[in-house]
Parts: sequence; structure tokens; C-alpha cells
Amino acid sequence: MRNSLTAPSYYQATANRKISFPPLEGDLETDVAVVGAGYTGLSAALELAEAGYRVAVLEASHVGGGASGRNGGQICTGFSPGQARITAQLGASDARKCFDIAEEAKRLIELRIEKYKIETGLQWGYLHCAAKPSHLEGLRAGADELSGLGYVGCSMLSKAELEERLGSKLYHGAMREARAGHFHPLNYCLGLANAARKAGAAIYEDTRVLEIDTGSKPCVRTNKGKVTAKFLILAGNAYLGKTVSRLYGRVMPVTSFIVTTEPLGDNMARSLIRDNEAGADSNFILDYFRRTEDNRLLFGGAANYSTLEPSDIGAFMKRRMVKVFPQLKDVGISHTWGGYIAITSNRLPDCGALSPTTFYAHGYSGQGVALAGMYGKLMAEAIRGTSERFDLLSRIRHLPFPGGPIRTPMLVAAMLFYRLRDALS
Ligand SMILES: Cc1cc2nc3c(=O)[nH]c(=O)nc-3n(C[C@H](O)[C@H](O)[C@H](O)COP(=O)(O)OP(=O)(O)OC[C@H]3O[C@@H](n4cnc5c(N)ncnc54)[C@H](O)[C@@H]3O)c2cc1C
Repeated sequence: MRNSLTAPSYYQATANRKISFPPLEGDLETDVAVVGAGYTGLSAALELAEAGYRVAVLEASHVGGGASGRNGGQICTGFSPGQARITAQLGASDARKCFDIAEEAKRLIELRIEKYKIETGLQWGYLHCAAKPSHLEGLRAGADELSGLGYVGCSMLSKAELEERLGSKLYHGAMREARAGHFHPLNYCLGLANAARKAGAAIYEDTRVLEIDTGSKPCVRTNKGKVTAKFLILAGNAYLGKTVSRLYGRVMPVTSFIVTTEPLGDNMARSLIRDNEAGADSNFILDYFRRTEDNRLLFGGAANYSTLEPSDIGAFMKRRMVKVFPQLKDVGISHTWGGYIAITSNRLPDCGALSPTTFYAHGYSGQGVALAGMYGKLMAEAIRGTSERFDLLSRIRHLPFPGGPIRTPMLVAAMLFYRLRDALS
């Protein structure tokens, strides 16, 4: 296991709820077995438990131990590559329905925060910053696309207007969105787990699923027991690896790294991001940043497709951060960590059914904080007999990544291409 994937995060240090669950020991029969306790799995578990199903969630590490407890905390609008790819495949009317589902994903977060009283420090507002003058056109097109879909609250900021809000001279302007934002992702994940537990779902940590059977009586085997169910939900995302061979080639794990500074104080934090928006640049391999509730800067990026990581990730990320915010050059780094993002070949999430009893969703391609919970909810809907929306999203086609020895080198080469494009565009 690579260092950054297990390094303790700022989120673990500031989690507002300490809950733990026992490992599964022995055999169990239930209605729905869920593999993975991130947003996808917990959201499905919560919906199903509330609807009266017996649910068992099996988690290899701990709740939020995958991407859901270690991400940038940015709640984004729509799908990672925008609408055009969906429209090209499904047509304008169905693509519009997909966008509506993505909008509902953000409202679902708000609703659950309120209903289950989850403290996350949720803030709305997002700055998409132009890394190159030529990127402004793309940002404007993105704003027009959103406005065309009835989304209210996009505005373009000139370089001077951006510099009033953001303590950086690096960018050439920005697109500001009112209905995207940020929060403490692990606290949200723990809140979902707590709500699912209260609704009757059984959660097992330290319980890695080693084998699955997707037949008419699906079954999962762990090292200490087995669960037989009527339905199975696979929500292991990038961390599932080769456990399910039919899903292995459908996503690729990409590492992203994050650092937080020491607390900066109210004034310094405000001088960095005046209105406490989330921010990201417009590069393909993007940097993202935001303030934390205790006035640190959280800075992430540097997606990495190879199996190697920099020897000193903290120093590596600090150099990137100081390029954006040179005033932080003497500020200490408090936490450094990373996690796996699952990407698909077309950067659209991948979901479907491996059999009439087994559903999966993964590959949110860096934009799953909102979407993953919604895909989990839609799998629960499908199990409850209303699969229209899940079927719609399942119709999005993906080219699988190649397997075998060329898998990683091919992705590394693709990454080099995009790095070069970011540098030259
Ligand atoms: C560093 C980083 C930054 C990110 N930043 C953002 C962001 O700012 N905004 C955004 O929208 N998205 C972001 N993402 C992506 C987002 O976090 C994910 O899309 C989302 O959390 C996916 O949720 P999930 O439940 O599908 O998967 P995960 O949260 O990864 O959960 C999968 C779980 O399954 C478990 N598991 C896997 N295999 C097994 C097995 N065999 N048996 C039992 N359990 C298993 C894992 O341990 C893991 O806990 C980021 C991701 C990373 C890593």
C-alpha cells in the first residue's frame, strides 16, 4: 500500500464523530449486501434500511477509509466532462434528465445534512479559475451551457475582479458558480453511516470481501465469514481492484494528493479566499483549494497515474500551493495525504447490473462527492422496483481500459500528454 493512501488526514484529526463497527465473523443472511462504506454504499444502505430492508455493509478498512473520507470536499455541478458527451450518446432530452439527477445530488446532500443533523461546515460558492487566457473561452462556454439548462448563478469574473476575491495573481479570470461549494467530507460520510446504523443497517469494518457470487442467491465471502443476500450492491469504486474481474477494466485508480496548512487565522484565511468559495484551476490535471472551518488552506491536486509517488509529497504539494499563493511560503504544512480517484475512459460515471441481483456504480472521475450519494440512492430505487433513472444512467457507454502489463504505462503516457497540453495551451 502506498504511503499517501494510509497517511492520517486532516479530516480524521478533526472528525466530529468517532464511530466504529465490528468486523463480520461468521455467516449472515440478509436482504441486501453492500460492498464498500463510502458515499455510494452508505447512501444505498441508508435508503434501503429506511425502506425496511435488512442491509449489511461490508467495508475492508473503515467508514470513509476510501475516497469519501479523504477527498477535497468540493461539491461540484453536473458531470466531470460537461454535458456534451452525454448528449452525444443519449440525445438532448435524456441528457437533460441526467443533469437534473446531478442537480438533485447536491440537494440530497443538503437534505440529509438537515434531516440527520450532520455538521459539515457546508459552504456554497465556487471559483473555476482560468489558468491560461485561452481557458476563459471554455469557462464562458461552460457557464452558457449551465445557463441553457436553467442553472441560475453563474457569472464571469475578470482578472481584476477575481483578485478582489482570491489572494492569487496566477489566474486570468474565473467563472463563479453559486450552487457548487465545499464541506468536511469525512464528517458527512460518518453522518451517513450513523443515519444508516440508526435506520437498522448493519455495518462491518475491517471486513474485506474476497469473492462474490452474482447468481440468483448472491453471496459474498470474506476471510472470516460469508453473507448471503437477495441483492448485492458493489460500491468499492477505485479500491475494489481485481476483486470483481468484470469491473476491473472499467475504472482506473488515479492518486490525488492533499495538504493542509497550519491554522492561518481569520484575516489571513479571508485574504486568500475572501468569500470562502471552493476553487480549482482549469487545467486537465487540476489544482483545487478551499478554506477549512478552522482557517487553514486545504490544497490538492497532482493527479498521478503511475504507481510511484514523490518521496516527499508534503514538499511537492507545498511547491504547487506556493505557486498559487506565494504568501504561504513560510507557513507550515500540518497534514499530507492522498487517495484513489476512480476514472473512466470518458470521465462519466459507470453503473449497471452484473446480473438481475447485482448492481454497481463507480468511476465518478473526480466528481463523486455529490454524484456518488445519488448513484447509491438510485441503486436503492432500482432494488425497490423503480429503475427508470438508474437504467437511464446505465445506458451511458464506456470503453474499458486495457488490462495486463500495458495498462499503467498507457495511462502514464496519456498523463504526460495532458501535462504537456496544460503547459502549452
Ligand atoms: C484525494 C481525492 C480528492 C477528491 N476530491 C474530490 C472533490 O473535491 N470533489 C468531488 O466531487 N470528488 C472528489 N474526489 C472523488 C470522490 O471522493 C469519490 O468520487 C467518491 O468519494 C466516491 O465514493 P464511493 O463511495 O463510490 O467510493 P469510496 O469512497 O472510495 O468507497 C469505496 C469503499 O469500498 C471499500 N472497498 C473496496 N473494495 C472492497 C472489498 N473488496 N471489500 C470491502 N470493502 C471494499 C473501500 O475500502 C472504500 O472504503 C476525490 C477523491 C480523492 C481520492
